[in-house]
Amino acid sequence: MLLNPLQAHLVYEFAARERFAILAVNADSPACLNDVLEAARLAQSPIIIETSLWQLKGHSFGAGDAMRGIARYLADISLLANDPAYLNVPVLFHTDHIKGPETQSLISAAISGVTLRNHTSIATLRASSISLDASELSEEQNINLLSALIEHAQAHQLPVTCEMEAGVDDGITDIAVIERLVTGLDRRHPGYLALFAPGIGSQHGFNAAGFPTFSPTAVAVAKSCIEQICGRTMGIALHGSTGLSEQQISNAVAAGVTKVNWSSESLLIRATAMRDYWISNGNKISPSDSAFKVTAMDNGVQSAVSRTYIPVVHQRLLTLGSVGQGPRCLQAAKLNHVMAGNGL
Ligand SMILES: [Zn+2]
Repeated sequence: MLLNPLQAHLVYEFAARERFAILAVNADSPACLNDVLEAARLAQSPIIIETSLWQLKGHSFGAGDAMRGIARYLADISLLANDPAYLNVPVLFHTDHIKGPETQSLISAAISGVTLRNHTSIATLRASSISLDASELSEEQNINLLSALIEHAQAHQLPVTCEMEAGVDDGITDIAVIERLVTGLDRRHPGYLALFAPGIGSQHGFNAAGFPTFSPTAVAVAKSCIEQICGRTMGIALHGSTGLSEQQISNAVAAGVTKVNWSSESLLIRATAMRDYWISNGNKISPSDSAFKVTAMDNGVQSAVSRTYIPVVHQRLLTLGSVGQGPRCLQAAKLNHVMAGNGL
């Protein structure tokens, strides 16, 4: 089931308390959404599907129009996550790297939601949690933009759950920066922040040299800092997990990471499986071949990718400690929990 922002907040807190992390997959096609949810169902694990600007504008969703992309993404993920097959899978939909002039309008739309009407019912589909790309923002701009999004939610009497980031590709974030950012946001709008993403020595994308400065200690220090400021349990979001070993990731989870973003490696696995499929089956792409149609349909390559991809996702869920946590997350999301702010 797709979690609303208040349920998402409770699940993030639960993961922080229980010391496991939820995989956040940047899914860039409906086929990838299917695979990720299926992997989560098989593992009885919670899962985060997240989207960046490039996916909203991509061919599978907005086809050039990011606002159309957010509507189509929300419709797709809601339909799938609320299908009876996945009602026991806690699914969170998160806005990931969005930057530039469209940031506020796009994320505001994700908070307000998209309303779908048919003859018998009306459903409004909303993001479970939000973040924005702060790489080109000053600290003040970062605080102000997140504040404006929270104020948008307040003006419409809607809940919102936030991740805040700082310098995720710039080495280890100075603790004073984390203090200023978290204090700036949480004092202005207490209770909305559920995750913080500092630089901890990893980087987005591939890096042949690995990440020698990657520091689980920096995770623990940042976690302690944000919990002290906010007065509640909170986890760290890890950007740039591609290239980290399973041991490094599991050390980061033990130190307080509760959300692990996964994009480049996921793309590599899917693209490699596609390439292998076409290398093996390219000779069937001929009008005279009896297997032409079954080979050429998107279903052919997508099914082949799925067979390779789902076991890899399962392994990652094991590393994060989230296998079997789905039912416990659904229980945690039902608790009568009072949070400061967020209209409660
Ligand atoms: Zn990231």
